[in-house]
Order: sequence, then C-alpha cells, then structure tokens
Amino acid sequence: MMNSGESRRSFLGKLSAAGAALYLGPGMGLARAETHAGLMDMGYKYTISSVDCLPKLKTDMERLVERQKISEHATIQEYVDAFTYELPEEQSWGKSFVIVAIPNKIVQVDFHYKGEKRRVLVAPGYTASGGRWDGIQEHIKEHVIGDKDAKLEYGPFIPQKLLAARSGLGVYGRNNIIYVPEFGSYHALLTYVTDHEFERQPWRNPQMLRECEGCDLCYENCPNKCITAENFVIDAGRCVTLYNEQDADMPDWMDPQAHNALVGCLLCTIECPANLHRIDDLDIMEDITEEETDMILTGAENEALKASIEAKIGRIGLVADFGFLARNLKLLLER
Ligand code: SF4
Ligand code: SF4
Repeated sequence: MMNSGESRRSFLGKLSAAGAALYLGPGMGLARAETHAGLMDMGYKYTISSVDCLPKLKTDMERLVERQKISEHATIQEYVDAFTYELPEEQSWGKSFVIVAIPNKIVQVDFHYKGEKRRVLVAPGYTASGGRWDGIQEHIKEHVIGDKDAKLEYGPFIPQKLLAARSGLGVYGRNNIIYVPEFGSYHALLTYVTDHEFERQPWRNPQMLRECEGCDLCYENCPNKCITAENFVIDAGRCVTLYNEQDADMPDWMDPQAHNALVGCLLCTIECPANLHRIDDLDIMEDITEEETDMILTGAENEALKASIEAKIGRIGLVADFGFLARNLKLLLER
C-alpha cells in the first residue's frame, strides 16, 4: 500500500491515524446514540452527506477554535490548518460524500529479546490493509450508489471524525475516538466524494457513546491526563500517539512507562466496555527472532534480515523506517 517515495507521515495520515486524538467537533448537549449507518455484506458501514455540509463543518471547527478547545501543539495546528472546506477544482463535480468505516484490529507481534518473548501491540490504524480494501470503490458504486458508472474518488482532507459523527456513522467516546456500532473504536474511516446525489442525507448533533455515562476508565487509564471530566475535548497535545508517530525526542515530562504500543496508544480503548467484544480479534503477525530484534535495535545493516522483518511485519507503517522502528521498540523493551 505504501509507495517507496511516500513518507511515513503521509502514510499514517492516509490511515487516519496521525493526530488520532483530534476531536474536531462540538462536545456539548450530547444525546444517546442512534446510528443511521448501513451495513454492507463486505463488512463496512457507511453514511452519506451532501458536499453542502462543508461550510457547517467549517463553522463547527471555528467554534472550537474560538472556544480554545484545540491544542496549540504545532502538529495539531498543522492538521487543523490543512483541513479544507471546499472541494478542490478537480473534484468540483462532487455532490455527496460517502463516509465509510472499515473494521481493523490491534496488531500483536512477539519480539524475542534477551532470551525472552516480549509481546508488543500496535494500535489499530497503523497497518496497511493487506488487500482487504481492494474492490471497495466498485462495491460502493454498485451497492451504495446503484450506478457502476458513477464517479467516486477519495475526498479532500476534511475533518472526517466530525463528519462521521454529524452524519450518524458513529458517536464520540469520552476519549474523543469515534465508536461505530459493532466495530467499537477499532476501525478506519475513509471519505469518498461522488457525483451522485442521494435523497436521504442525515445530519445530527454529535452524540456521546452510551457506555460513557458513569464510566471513567479512560480518564483513569490515560497516562498523560489528556482526558478530563471538565472538558469533552481532550488535550491532544499531550497524547502519546502524537509523540510516538514522530521522530522528535520524547518530551521530558512524559513518563517512559506511558509507551504501551509500538506505535499509537491503547490505554484509553483497550479496557473500554464498548470494545470488549473486539479484544480477542487480533491481527497476529509472525515472531521476530532474537537476531532480527538485535538488528533493529543496533541499526546493523543486514539486507537479508531486513527483508525477513519486512516480510513478517512490513504491513505496519513504521517498518518503512528502521530508525524510527528502533526508537519505538526501545521505548517498549527498555521500560
Ligand atoms: S472507557 Fe468508558 S468513558 Fe472512556 S470511552 Fe469507553 S465507555 Fe466512554
Ligand atoms: S490513553 Fe493514550 S491515546 Fe488515549 S488520550 Fe491518553 S495518551 Fe492519548
């Protein structure tokens, strides 16, 4: 899925994982969730929205900025600035968005290290699909649009978590992650633009996950206190994901024990009651041998071992950059 010339950052961005903690939507006046999503036999869910929603998303965002709900961290600001609220000229034919959620899984890999087997997890969203998404555009045209000749392309860079909440595809958890019925929070969001106009286009206030009422597990488990009872919008500028997705040094204030995944963070989702049914649904990859683990950690050049590692765990986006992989693996193995 990743081209050789494509940076890890852009790869992660495409997977909707980078800056995963961005909430990007109003958090007040939330009601119980009722989904309007359709379930397709391919196992994805979708909702639709007119492209006329873009100014409404812009208003939502401006309101958040005015209320100083968005972290001032430079990377978060980069994402916010990069969002667009107009179709680009080359997609000016667009009439509707099809917002899709595809279930994904926590990845599990055992690294052999100093005579022990160390189990390492990767948060969902950092792994290439391995072909699971192939054919989805044709499927959408045939079964959602009902016209094989309709135009359908990836949409522009818009706040798709917010669009997912507004269009009824999912609801916000208190950890600001979108929960989709049946999938929980373990899914990838994709937004397509089409020239087809749909009759039914739901639009609603963002809603909160029913299970959040009376639950404080994610507040308690967040190592960086990003989630608080006072603010629905979490402090994304302190989120572990923001730091282990980047090459920059870890901030001094972060406890090394906070790292819990090879990339991403699982601490506000793994014990969430709305994810319990997904917890054994793992993407288990082949063990990394002692020799391979040593090569990653020492940075030794060994093309045969690199090829072997890539064959086993190359679907994890960060494996494209062995220096970055070594940094994150050390954070876990030396805890
Ligand atoms: S852990 Fe509890 S409060 Fe947090 S998202 Fe899940 S249900 Fe909501
Ligand atoms: S538990 Fe991890 S992913 Fe969740 S908000 Fe805290 S640091 Fe971010």
